[in-house]
Amino acid sequence: MDTYRNFINGKWVESASTRTAANVNPANTDDVLGTVRQATRDEARAAVEAAANAFRGWRATPAPARGRIVAKAARLFEENKEELAQILTREEGKTISESRGELQRSINVAEFCAGEARRLTGETIPSELPLNFAYTIKQPIGVVACVTPWNFPVAIPVWKIAPALVAGNAVVFKPASITPATAVRITEIFEAAGIPPGVLNLVLGSGSEAGDEIINHPAVKAISFTGSNGVGIRLYEQASRRGAKVQCEMGGKNPVVVLEDADMDIAVESTAQGAFGSSGQRCTATSRAVVMEQVADEFVSRVAKRAESMRIGAGVDEQTEMGPSVDENQFKTVLSYIGIGREDGATLVCGGSRADGAGLDKGYFVRPTVFDHVTPDMRIAREEIFGPVLSVLRVRDFDHAIEVANDCEYGLSSSIFTNDAARIFRFVDEIETGMTHVNSPTTGGEAHVPFGGIKGTGIGDREQGSTALDFYTDLKVVYVDYTGRKREGNLY
Ligand code: NAP
Ligand code: MG
Repeated sequence: MDTYRNFINGKWVESASTRTAANVNPANTDDVLGTVRQATRDEARAAVEAAANAFRGWRATPAPARGRIVAKAARLFEENKEELAQILTREEGKTISESRGELQRSINVAEFCAGEARRLTGETIPSELPLNFAYTIKQPIGVVACVTPWNFPVAIPVWKIAPALVAGNAVVFKPASITPATAVRITEIFEAAGIPPGVLNLVLGSGSEAGDEIINHPAVKAISFTGSNGVGIRLYEQASRRGAKVQCEMGGKNPVVVLEDADMDIAVESTAQGAFGSSGQRCTATSRAVVMEQVADEFVSRVAKRAESMRIGAGVDEQTEMGPSVDENQFKTVLSYIGIGREDGATLVCGGSRADGAGLDKGYFVRPTVFDHVTPDMRIAREEIFGPVLSVLRVRDFDHAIEVANDCEYGLSSSIFTNDAARIFRFVDEIETGMTHVNSPTTGGEAHVPFGGIKGTGIGDREQGSTALDFYTDLKVVYVDYTGRKREGNLY
């Protein structure tokens, strides 16, 4: 059994902390992967200081050379893909095919970012004055903290660390406490790829202690956070008070809108995949279905049938379609929301309890759950549950559908199911989400496409794609005068 270590200044160091936590397989709580010691504030500070010291050398390394190291990391992720996918499934619980998908996404992101190293370009801008011009350059910021959640414990760290490194920053990586094994493997891969000592540091510790120390350290110039709204907003308040740059990707309450002409096979399967895939633990998971009254009976009965047919079990089994909730906390949260839905008067159509049966008694399995006749004021229509629970809201017409879909504090992802081009484009115009899908699930995204949300979901620059490096670089504007004469008059 492993005792996970921190990676500080190029060395794997055992924490001096006496506070430990077991890393438990959520599909079988008898299976303990390892023990983590929760890093102390001193250790978190040492990681930031190591990064601050390493920054100058890394900043001076040409961007294409930095990119070559990230490209090597991409190849190592590829070579170790299956091993990492197995650890991910054992640690987080998602199915092995979901884990392989997450690894592939991570490889794609690393490859994309490596290529961006050769495109770290600015613009040249003509001047109003003769024999003058201006240009821009993108420069690294300094020490960047990457604070990440447990639900995509490989892909999210990679989509923060890779662009941060390519841009020339030094990184302190603070993963979620409950997914240390994947965090260690990610760091080992960057180490093996040739990242110099101090340029990437890993701190395994609690958010409230190690995390707090990192985000409040004056040497940390930028913080890229993905996680819950409660934590993200507090972090944003704290860091912005000292002028640090912050990017937060937070919760979702993602709707699908099903119009009366929708292809029901596609709408039902996409909704089920979006709602129950990864046990509902994706930030882009489908948690509301906004359905036209005329087709609601058919939609609900078919989604419920699909929910009941989901093969629930340990993710290592290739046949499993849905794994467990990540831990006891999350499991209890999901069950408590199911109770709230019932008390608030929604109609429970299927699921609604822990899943039992052969092989399920030692894991945090919840049955895929569908509530019908949910109204927009109910808590299960408004709050992120992060479990396999779908709330169906019935609507009278298209305008009503848009109104209900937008009646939500979050704005991450959405989908529409229809073949009516006019209503598709009106939906695309009016839906208040950062990403939207036409006739496909709310989940999923590609490495070279920007990712993120609006409203209560997102603060700061978008991650990935053409915007991946925006957050991790400062823009410098340079004015050049080659007249050889002193300036007469002023430019405003
Ligand atoms: P979380 O509880 O907010 O934690 C996220 C990270 O912040 C963890 O590393 C956590 O450490 C750390 N943290 C907690 N308190 C902190 C503090 N006071 N100072 C500094 N760091 C602190 O989120 P989670 O439960 O891991 O993840 C689930 C959430 O992530 C959901 O809300 C989901 O929607 C969201 N998410 C959003 C996106 C997106 O792109 N929009 C993608 C994936 C997930 P500990 O683990 O030690 O608490
Ligand atoms: Mg948490």
